[in-house]
Amino acid sequence: MNFEKFSSILKKEQIRLHEPMARHTTFGIGGPADCFLMPADREELRRVCAVIREEEMPFFIVGGGANLLVRDGGIRGAVICTGRLQQIRQEGRYIVADAGVSTARTARFAMERGLSGMEFAGGIPGTIGGAAFMNAGAYGGEMSRIVASAVTCGADGVIHRYDREQIGYAYRHSLFMDRPQEILLELTLELTPGDPETIRSEMDEYNRWRHEKQPLEARSAGSTFKRPEGHFVGAMIEELGLKGYSVGDAAVSSKHAGFLINKGRATCAEMLTLIHEIQARVKERYGVDLEPEVQIIGEE
Ligand SMILES: Cc1cc2nc3c(=O)[nH]c(=O)nc-3n(C[C@H](O)[C@H](O)[C@H](O)COP(=O)(O)OP(=O)(O)OC[C@H]3O[C@@H](n4cnc5c(N)ncnc54)[C@H](O)[C@@H]3O)c2cc1C
Repeated sequence: MNFEKFSSILKKEQIRLHEPMARHTTFGIGGPADCFLMPADREELRRVCAVIREEEMPFFIVGGGANLLVRDGGIRGAVICTGRLQQIRQEGRYIVADAGVSTARTARFAMERGLSGMEFAGGIPGTIGGAAFMNAGAYGGEMSRIVASAVTCGADGVIHRYDREQIGYAYRHSLFMDRPQEILLELTLELTPGDPETIRSEMDEYNRWRHEKQPLEARSAGSTFKRPEGHFVGAMIEELGLKGYSVGDAAVSSKHAGFLINKGRATCAEMLTLIHEIQARVKERYGVDLEPEVQIIGEE
């Protein structure tokens, strides 16, 4: 694949060849991306996409890497990171944010302007683009309730606008998951006026719970599995006596069994073995199929 053309669009420091994805995932796991690109604005992104089309190059989009498990063989083609797309503004009770703005920053921005509805998201790692893609949620809140519309750049380079009803939100699902070639550029969030101090104390309370219950000091991607109807994943794994169980450096957190963690130098192969063992044991004992919430991508 010819990555030369990207140097006429991006500065040297915005292009990295053979970039270990372990540096860009909260798990700290993942082999090299052939070409890791960090466009700084929409125009650069549009031109990067044009080259990708011309070269018929495979590509993948990464936000904060907080829900990604990248295989040890890495990612062929281009990886576009949205992390430098950082514009955010208020329009009345709406917030319009670039996909690369962190979810925590967006929630803080809303709080400071007396806009309520994002309290649940203040402690969710990653970008607002990733959160809208995953329909991230916590403490009874979910992105589906606040995303009013999304602007994307399609594989054809055309800009599209989707209203909430068109995004087909369901539990940890959005239309964008079925359209992996579509890049989320901008999200408009609809919030309601509220008292900044009340919003702040609700967010503080959620963050206290997170620190108490979740292994935030360890490298993880949050809850590894989706919540099956009528069951709690952490409780099932704990009842199986698997808290602290490990395969190499991939382990079940001893603080919260729903979180799998990288104790140091875990490989993706170890993490996948651990995931498969847990799935088999849960199926055997409870008859429940655990489905990963983390997006597993890349080459073996
Ligand atoms: C400690 C911890 C706690 C967590 N707690 C929660 C929680 O409470 N609730 C919850 O729902 N999740 C939680 N997570 C998981 C994670 O934070 C969310 O899924 C988050 O929204 C992922 O955002 P990201 O930017 O990191 O996405 P990434 O991990 O970078 O990507 C995830 C998916 O989104 C796609 N994507 C990202 N950006 C774009 C874009 N601009 N356009 C198109 N596709 C895109 C990627 O291609 C990929 O398929 C937690 C993770 C950690 C590490």
